[in-house]
Amino acid sequence: MKISVKRENGFVEYGVELKETTLLEVLNFVKQTQDNSLSFSSGCRSGVCGSCSMRVNEREVLACTYKVKDGDVIEPLRNVTLIRDLVVDMDKSYTFNAKSKSWLSSLNSDARLTSEDEKINEVQSDCILCGSCYSACPVYSVNEEFLGPFALTRVWKYVSDKRELDASEKIETIQTNGVWDCTLCNECTIVCPQNISSKADIEKLRVKSTIAGYSDPSFSNSFGGGFGFDGTPSF
Ligand code: SF4
Ligand code: SF4
Repeated sequence: MKISVKRENGFVEYGVELKETTLLEVLNFVKQTQDNSLSFSSGCRSGVCGSCSMRVNEREVLACTYKVKDGDVIEPLRNVTLIRDLVVDMDKSYTFNAKSKSWLSSLNSDARLTSEDEKINEVQSDCILCGSCYSACPVYSVNEEFLGPFALTRVWKYVSDKRELDASEKIETIQTNGVWDCTLCNECTIVCPQNISSKADIEKLRVKSTIAGYSDPSFSNSFGGGFGFDGTPSF
């Protein structure tokens, strides 16, 4: 079996005699037996920490869960700073969690969550910050400041939390480089190892935004700001 790995000076092909093996095991085998300069990140080795995300045949995967096939082409995540080989710096993507104010800002300490309440945003809590959705998102090729799928999923988690007394600041924040910049292409959902649909969360945030009086600025612009759609709250 052969795999190609993108490195500093182009793709390098490695031959391995392993079968039914995860990509992480193959990379470790190559490093130990053929090329100890090969660089990649890993952590828990069980799909929990999210640190071994990379691209195989142009699709984001976790190396510790993906089963390698002959001819696979391995590349680092996109839309992030490349450090070396398959190692990337995710720091910029994490700043979008802070920019989107994705936390409980005004806590209703009297509110008690029932098991039904917890189900509303249970899956969003499973995000392991692997960055796969961020890498797959096409918006970054035109807007590097897009808040992005995992940050917006996190915003939905707190907007839908009944302990949040006032979500208006979060809703206001996501009007710029946020919910209206998403193309709803669903690429983020397809690659998420935790079955989180950021696209669906963004759609729900659009509904919340509309209820709060906001609208899609491109839609309002296409009508020259007429029909009352001027992209600002109507109250
Ligand atoms: S659905 Fe939106 S957030 Fe998800 S990948 Fe597409 S453009 Fe990006
Ligand atoms: S939403 Fe899914 S793909 Fe995106 S960072 Fe979280 S776990 Fe990874």
